[in-house]
Amino acid sequence: MTRPTYREIAPYRADPRPCAIDLSDNTNLWGAAPSATRVLRSAGNASLARYPEPYSETLKDALARYAGVSSSMIVTGCGSDDVLDSTIRACAEPGDAVAMVDPTFVMIPQLARANGLHVVRIPVGADADVDVERLTAANAAITYVCSPNNPTGRSVPRSDIQTIVERARGVVIVDEAYVEFQGYSAVDLVSGNARVVVARTMSKAFGLAGARVGYAIANPELIVEIEKARGPFKVASHAADAATAALDTDVDWVRARVGDAIESRERVASALREIGLAPLASNSNFVFVPIANSAAIASAMRTRDVAVRPFAGVPTFGDALRITIGPWELMEPALAALREAIAECA
Ligand SMILES: *Cc1c(COP(=O)(O)O)cnc(C)c1O
Repeated sequence: MTRPTYREIAPYRADPRPCAIDLSDNTNLWGAAPSATRVLRSAGNASLARYPEPYSETLKDALARYAGVSSSMIVTGCGSDDVLDSTIRACAEPGDAVAMVDPTFVMIPQLARANGLHVVRIPVGADADVDVERLTAANAAITYVCSPNNPTGRSVPRSDIQTIVERARGVVIVDEAYVEFQGYSAVDLVSGNARVVVARTMSKAFGLAGARVGYAIANPELIVEIEKARGPFKVASHAADAATAALDTDVDWVRARVGDAIESRERVASALREIGLAPLASNSNFVFVPIANSAAIASAMRTRDVAVRPFAGVPTFGDALRITIGPWELMEPALAALREAIAECA
């Protein structure tokens, strides 16, 4: 009855138990952009009876101003997961390949398989760096690079992204979900290259994960094809209004919270080094901490009401934890839970 290729795809599962300190999903622990909340509070019910704009034209204008491109270069979606999914579908046929670094964003293999593509994994190097040679030699229909990379937190140097774009055969997706923490972008590569898609989200620095708004920036002809794969009416009206308000009003708020996150992150990193761990230098709002037995440690932390994301058997690094950075008042008890968990699991 169902597609055989779907049987191997596991549904996404998150721990349903409520948790006091949730450092598992890299969302903004300072909260949502304030004007988005104001818009949602004051929303009347008249607009609920109507369809939203088919391709979120008003939101596109706000995103275009924010990203410094024209509206015709923007596609929106129900989270950037939706935009990534649509891009894969628009740019590759079943049987084609997606080449990616290992480890990278966990949704990519899922989305690839759901669209009938197979995945070529190129393990990261000693410094969690991307092997540009091997990645482009895969000759894939789609090459996916995430900068800063989830879960390692490491930026891909601009020169590497440029080389990947020059050498890759097919479409190159640059995932900039955490671009606000990085300080540079690959967006300027889009105008010079019809095969580059820069994917972004309102879920992380803007704090709007619950609104489900993502977008991508690409050449206008490619945008039209991605929108065909996406379909109309994918961003709910209130989500689009909230995101538009945040983009128009809260960019300074976002910048300030990014500064807070970076300050807290460096404090957390030195606390981790003090207990003998070696977190990777991060360019994002989370840290990647190699640690043996990460699943047991994470579950010992969970019983202390702190959620972090364990990874097992990561190339080069083995087991590791990914810890989202929030205000220091949350990180202090989280670090205490980690120390206790390490003692318990020893
Ligand atoms: C969180 C995340 C996304 C997805 O965000 P949406 O909530 O679907 O917009 C995309 N890419 C990476 C690397 C992420 O970490």
